[in-house]
Amino acid sequence: MSEDTTRKVTMEKIVSLCRRRGFVFQSSEIYGGLASCWDFGPLGVELKRNVKDAWWKDMVQSRDDMVGIETSILMHTQVWTASGHLKNFTDPLIECKGCQKRFKGDEVEGKICPSCGGELSEPRQFNTMFKTHMGPIEDSQSEVYLRPETAQGMFVNFPNVVTTTRKKLPFGIAQVGRSFRNEITTGNFIFRDREFEQMEIEYFIKPGTQEKWFEFWVNERFEWYQKLGIKKDHLKLHHKKKEELAHYALACADIEFLFPMGWGELEGIASRGDYDMTQHANASGKNLKYIDEEAKEQYLPYVVEPSAGVDRAVLALMCDAYDEEVVEGEERVILRFHPRIAPVKAAVLPLSKKEPLASKAREIFNSLRSDWVVQYDDTQSIGRRYRRQDETGTPFCVTVDFQTLEDNQVTVRERDSMTQIRIPIAALKGTLAAKLAGEAMTEGNVAWKSGVVAKEN
Ligand code: ATP
Repeated sequence: MSEDTTRKVTMEKIVSLCRRRGFVFQSSEIYGGLASCWDFGPLGVELKRNVKDAWWKDMVQSRDDMVGIETSILMHTQVWTASGHLKNFTDPLIECKGCQKRFKGDEVEGKICPSCGGELSEPRQFNTMFKTHMGPIEDSQSEVYLRPETAQGMFVNFPNVVTTTRKKLPFGIAQVGRSFRNEITTGNFIFRDREFEQMEIEYFIKPGTQEKWFEFWVNERFEWYQKLGIKKDHLKLHHKKKEELAHYALACADIEFLFPMGWGELEGIASRGDYDMTQHANASGKNLKYIDEEAKEQYLPYVVEPSAGVDRAVLALMCDAYDEEVVEGEERVILRFHPRIAPVKAAVLPLSKKEPLASKAREIFNSLRSDWVVQYDDTQSIGRRYRRQDETGTPFCVTVDFQTLEDNQVTVRERDSMTQIRIPIAALKGTLAAKLAGEAMTEGNVAWKSGVVAKEN
């Protein structure tokens, strides 16, 4: 249960809004859907891409000590033997002998099925990696796995990246990509999928510096979610206790978010020592040591891994953006997205579908679409159109009216405050750029100073 009683968001409202407005659809919906697989619709794909782009910009593009990579989903089977996934990437599976329902070990207590009261089986270890075959012959020789995390692609490419980029420790390799887990139980919409995307960093460091870097990345990543609009009160850190850690891990912290169904993990940050590099060095027989020219030493680097889920970040951002308010006796649903992640940045709304207004509005629309994702909407009343844009989180509406034809000015309306100003078309792009970059929506600042501020209604 949610601990925040003032929150208007529920999972039902998010699922329904996502379906209704084209953020997320069930996979293969016309065939009844495929469990825990989801399709991102026209707005969802923009939102998701903005989240990945924000991560890439902040974690890779803006940092001297990070490079990106994109590795294949199918990898040599020895990767999964060396990493321990073939042996240990398992969940305890319990089945009901009566109704055949399946449970993950930690979901049930005792021997009685919570669903039908039947008898439960003993738990057996179930490997959650998806298996497939490479090539035309389906035998054990051709078995390959869909990766359950992107991380291994970074570990095995460490020597390639070092030799081609000449990066010096400490530095990280970052990747965004699909991962697959045959989860025993799923649910909670896009929180737990069988196919999902991850944003992962493997940060390679000199042994002995792990505490400093672990703390650095925990803070960095905790702050990042807030920068994108997640409320601080809805975030918490769960530092894992010694007994909760994997045998090789030196430390681990989860960043948790207060989803409508309760606290859930958004990201895990793990201090992994040299476990992964040792495993791959031993299994491959290759020398994966880093040559530290300054210290005149060679060693296997230690690794700190911040591992985030794109789908969970999208869900969390939607939950915290969701708001409802009553304006003039009518309910308004708003997604108060940070401009960086809003799927559509502005909508151009002509007051009439007719010429010459339509051409003027089209001209403005075309001038904006080279810079941003913008929408053109000329159907129904202007009030209805504003509400539609509010509901999908568009920060600005640009209204083109008959006066525009005479004075070359448009009305810009801001989503959250519903403040409206009239500005020259020539100032529109600059104004939107400043606003989208976060300039306050108040009267008198640089970008607004040419406009007349008014309030809707
Ligand atoms: P959980 O305990 O919730 O199953 P995990 O600890 O197994 O997650 P990690 O292996 O640490 O997850 O993966 C890193 C991140 O990848 C998670 O924090 C989450 O954001 C994302 N992730 C993992 N599994 C899924 C999934 N089935 N669906 C969506 N995102 C996932």
